Amino acid sequence: MLVENNTVVAVHYHGYFLDTKEVFDSSLEREPLTFLVGHGQMIPGFEAEVLGAEMGEKRTFTLEPERAYGHREEERVMAMPIGDFPEEIEIGMTFQAEVQGMPMPFEIITINEETVDCDFNHPMAGKTLTFDVEIVSIRVAGEEEISHGHVHGDGGHHH
Ligand code: ZN
Repeated sequence: MLVENNTVVAVHYHGYFLDTKEVFDSSLEREPLTFLVGHGQMIPGFEAEVLGAEMGEKRTFTLEPERAYGHREEERVMAMPIGDFPEEIEIGMTFQAEVQGMPMPFEIITINEETVDCDFNHPMAGKTLTFDVEIVSIRVAGEEEISHGHVHGDGGHHH
């Protein structure tokens, strides 16, 4: 069986920046990551690069921002009144705003006299990411999983 749309795949992965070898995320000390292929659960390039892989196969690939978390957009940096924040704020702190009921995380990048510049870009936006991936299991997704768009059971939803 090969990885294709509407299969449930478990992978171990090790994600790093190619130039510095700095690791940004890894499943190696955790349970493998399980996802339903073809339902937008993963960044687009990750799924595309494991399509057609077989059980136990290892692949290494590098994703430019277009196929990962997109590019940084300066419009996503917004000034907010400093009075909206606690007194002890520092550059690099992260907070969460709620916009139309959706949680929107952001990072403080500049502190001015009366305002704070808040960066709503995804922390991985603009970055090129390299992954070493190993396919640890592949199975056909159930009809219910396909209609819900996510995995049930091990590594997925329990409901
Ligand atoms: Zn479900």
